[in-house]
Amino acid sequence: MDITILDRQPCHRSPGTEGMPGYLTVDLAALARNYEKLATAAAPARTAAVVKADAYGLGAEQVAMKLYAHGCRHFFVAQFGEALRLRPCLPLDADIFVLNGLQPGNERACAQAGIVPVVNSLEQLQHWSRAGQSLNSRLRTVVQFDTGMSRLGVPPNERLALAEALQDAGFIELLFIMSHLACADDVESAQNNAQLAEMSRIAAEFPGFDICVANSGGIFLGDAYHCALVRPGIALYGGAPTAGIQNPMEAVVRLDVAVVQTRSVPAGASVGYSGGHVTTAETRLATIAAGYADGLPRSLSGKGAVYCDGNRLPIVGCVSMDSITVDISALPEGQLRLGTLVEILGPNQTLEDVARDAGTISYEILTGLGSRYGRRYV
Ligand SMILES: *Cc1c(COP(=O)(O)O)cnc(C)c1O
Repeated sequence: MDITILDRQPCHRSPGTEGMPGYLTVDLAALARNYEKLATAAAPARTAAVVKADAYGLGAEQVAMKLYAHGCRHFFVAQFGEALRLRPCLPLDADIFVLNGLQPGNERACAQAGIVPVVNSLEQLQHWSRAGQSLNSRLRTVVQFDTGMSRLGVPPNERLALAEALQDAGFIELLFIMSHLACADDVESAQNNAQLAEMSRIAAEFPGFDICVANSGGIFLGDAYHCALVRPGIALYGGAPTAGIQNPMEAVVRLDVAVVQTRSVPAGASVGYSGGHVTTAETRLATIAAGYADGLPRSLSGKGAVYCDGNRLPIVGCVSMDSITVDISALPEGQLRLGTLVEILGPNQTLEDVARDAGTISYEILTGLGSRYGRRYV
């Protein structure tokens, strides 16, 4: 391989794992600054970190270790398997909570690993309590209540029975109670206040316990939503916590993907599957090594763009499984070549930009970014 040619390439050179089709760069310092910013906004409430789905695709282990170093002691995942994988990466004074609670049969393993399930129903509480009894130890838990999202959590008609069960449950130690907001990214939504009001009624029924309701958006709804603990996810990773206003968070990821091939085609050339695009003039094209299998939604077909040195290179035709084709006529001839990296996420294009072009939300873009890229933590 001719290294000197690689060295002369424009845009960004590959940062170490030479020869990968793309590089996902995670800025752990920016992550830590986002954590500090959220923790400051939420204080005196404590600030947890939601690191489910491999920390929204960025690497749960690296993210959790970094945030632990910045004082975070509460980590939320969605599934028990995620908690088991994360547990050895964190010191024992960090708690790991499983938002979905446990599937029957995992209780003993969960208790033995010191992982805390979020109990979402009377049934889950009974399983957990029985595990405590058989291990003869008091098992820590969190209870989530449904305050109007109808997704997870103890429904209103189970509250009384749950309160009674908790009274009798000598093998349960309730750490705090929580709920989840359905519309926290919309400051105008009346549902926020309705859910908070429902949570205060619940707090009166379960007095003396700390409360946790705010996700990223909830932190920006005001002090009333902070309670004892907040649990942001997307905002840590640079996603906008609130729709329709300037994103106060710092970008944490950039994604640079390599050029596989370039070509010049005449007017009337058909580009990509289904002849989805037909050129109207002579056009220079580059094929880029990322497709829907790498997390670029097929809905970006004919929409959106990649960037090179600040130049917008529109996606033309259909997104393929392993590649996209972009119009590079805006660039001087020869600037893009085999191996050159172009920007998909970075200073020219935010997560929100790509999500908007794809007709989705930043969460889906972030969690979809595939495993075929090289990963670099800076
Ligand atoms: C995913 C999740 C969060 C984090 O939400 P963000 O909007 O990413 O901040 C918090 N709480 C629960 C219950 C969740 O499922």
